[in-house]
Amino acid sequence: MILDVPGRPLRAAEIPAPVPAAGQVRLRVRACAVCRTDLHVVDGELPDPKLPLVPGHEIVGVVEAAGPGASRFKTGDRVGVPWLGWTCGECGDCRAGRENLCATARFTGYTLDGGYADFAVADERFCFPIPPAFPDAEAAPLLCAGLIGYRSLKKAGEAARLGLYGFGAAAHIVAQVARSQGREIFAFTRPGDSEAQDFARSKGAAWAGDSDAPAPAPLDAAIIFAPVGALVPAALRSVRPGGTVVCGGIHMSDIPSFPYEWLWRERSVCSVANLTRRDGEEFFALASRIPLELRANPCRLEEANEAVARLRSGRVQGAEVLVMNDR
Ligand SMILES: [Zn+2]
Ligand SMILES: [Zn+2]
Repeated sequence: MILDVPGRPLRAAEIPAPVPAAGQVRLRVRACAVCRTDLHVVDGELPDPKLPLVPGHEIVGVVEAAGPGASRFKTGDRVGVPWLGWTCGECGDCRAGRENLCATARFTGYTLDGGYADFAVADERFCFPIPPAFPDAEAAPLLCAGLIGYRSLKKAGEAARLGLYGFGAAAHIVAQVARSQGREIFAFTRPGDSEAQDFARSKGAAWAGDSDAPAPAPLDAAIIFAPVGALVPAALRSVRPGGTVVCGGIHMSDIPSFPYEWLWRERSVCSVANLTRRDGEEFFALASRIPLELRANPCRLEEANEAVARLRSGRVQGAEVLVMNDR
C-alpha cells in the first residue's frame, strides 16, 4: 500500500521484490502493525515524508535475501524492523548512546519505505531477532507500541503508582510490563469509554476512569499516549510533587497554558523521541520473560485504509495488525 499524497487514502499496488543494498536484508513481510504514528504520517501531520511511501514500522518478516556485506542473519530467520531504521553513527548523539536523537536518522515507514507490503528491505544492524514465543501478529506491535512504551516507562523512573493516559496498543503492553515490576496502574481513557476502561482493568489496571477527572489518589508518574495536549496539565494535577509526566507520542495537539503551581514542587514534563537499539534489546529480553497477553486484531494488507480509519476513530482495543502470512 502506497501513500502518494498525505491526506489521501493509501493506494494498493503490486510492489516487486526489492534488491537489498549493501548491509540490508530483504524480508518477506509476515505482519505489520498499524501505529498511531502511521496515522500522523498518512494525515500529513508529520513533515516531509518520503513520497511515494510504503508506511508501516512494526514489521515482522522472514529474511529471504541479503545484500553485499550483510551477514548478521541467515535465510529463514524471523526478524523485526522498528521505527529507527538508520543512524549516522558518527554525531555526538550517536556516540553518546543517544542514537534516537541523531539529527540525520532515517525512520521506517516515514523517511524509508516500511512494511505495508509483501516485501521490505532493512538495514540489518537495526533489526531485532523475534523471540519464538510470539506469533507474527502479536510480535508486530512489540516493535513500536512495546518499544516506545518501554522507553516511556524507563523515563517514568521508579514510580510505584503509574497513570497511563490513553489505553491503546502501547498502554496495553506497558501496563503488563509495569505490573510485572510490581507497580500499580491507573488507566485514563476518553471520557465515558467504558469498553476501554474494562479492557484496561483486564490488563491489570487497579483503577480505570475518565481522563478529564482527577486521579483518585496521587500518581508517582504518568505516561501520556493519547495525542491530546490538554492531558499534560490534567496529568500534572494528578502527579504528586517530584513526579514526572512523560509524553510518549510523536505528535500532540497544543498544550493549553496552565498555572505554574501545577508544575511547581519539582514536577517535570518530558517527551520520548524514537528508540535506541539498546531499548530494543532490553525490551525483547524482558518481554520474553513476562507472559505478555497481546491483543492483535488481524486484517488483510488490502484493508490498511480501514485499519487506519479504525485507529483514527479511537475505538480500537489492542493493536490493528496487517497480516500477510496466509498468502
Ligand atoms: Zn548520528
Ligand atoms: Zn509507532
